[in-house]
Amino acid sequence: MKLFSIFGDPVSHSRSPLMHNSVFKKLGYKACYTRTHLIDSTKLKEIFFKLHLDGANVTVPHKEAAYIACDEVRGFAKKVGVVNTLINENGRLIGYNTDADGFLYSINEFQDINNILIIGAGGTAKALAMKFLEENIKISILNRSENRLQYFSEIGCKTSNWENFQTKEYDLVVNTTSAGLKDEELPAPKELLEDILKHTNYVADAIYGKLTPFLKMAKEKNITYKDGADMLLGQGILANELFTNFQISKEEIKKYMQKSFAL
Ligand code: NDP
Repeated sequence: MKLFSIFGDPVSHSRSPLMHNSVFKKLGYKACYTRTHLIDSTKLKEIFFKLHLDGANVTVPHKEAAYIACDEVRGFAKKVGVVNTLINENGRLIGYNTDADGFLYSINEFQDINNILIIGAGGTAKALAMKFLEENIKISILNRSENRLQYFSEIGCKTSNWENFQTKEYDLVVNTTSAGLKDEELPAPKELLEDILKHTNYVADAIYGKLTPFLKMAKEKNITYKDGADMLLGQGILANELFTNFQISKEEIKKYMQKSFAL
């Protein structure tokens, strides 16, 4: 029996155990996926091995710490310095990032996306910004505080904090902050968001399972919006492929993972 978990703080809201266990159960794959409330990021590796895990997902706020904890980081995660999927490969911790491709999958239905404003500058914002830049999409970053912005200006994004932000025209505005996850906060001051929402065609939130105050604003203004459920599905499918060492096809994983959303 293989054992997987998700590490996060908070983590009780996470649908990952349900998603992965549904796939394992329906396809007779001998594995179980649980959740671990991790407060101290520096303990990630120690706890991973203490629990004898075969793999894990990492969520807010530990994705950058997960990158540091790895013995080896592969693919896109290496480029961006953010890890959301861990694999135990013969006692070595291997890190991957499936968030960015998961998000790209989730905005397939949005047309003509050439200019995106990302609100937030954490691990998720890093992964999305780097992936969008690879797709030649122009990226602006708006964050509450200044200190995380340097990375983004170095990779070619236009960066602002709440004080020096000036609204432009955007095709899509994405909230990658955790404002609204376990509270009713907006990701930026209301007046700023009122102005931003006048200048975008689409809105997305990485948070799933609830209508965040930010999405409520978009809904009130009749802007096409989506929450993070499809992103969750997209990243989950790619992580499950890694957990099962590609023994299950993407289509089968998607079929059963998607069904778990109705549970
Ligand atoms: P991080 O902790 O790395 O980054 C959090 C960011 O949010 C920082 O930029 C921080 O700003 C900002 N922030 C936090 N609280 C507030 C607030 N009250 N007002 C304004 N800004 C705030 O988190 P992650 O990038 O790992 O995750 C961010 C969110 O994305 C989480 O809600 C997570 O659940 C969600 N997510 C969803 C996924 C999905 O599959 N749907 C996948 C990945 C993430 P500052 O720098 O000023 O502290």
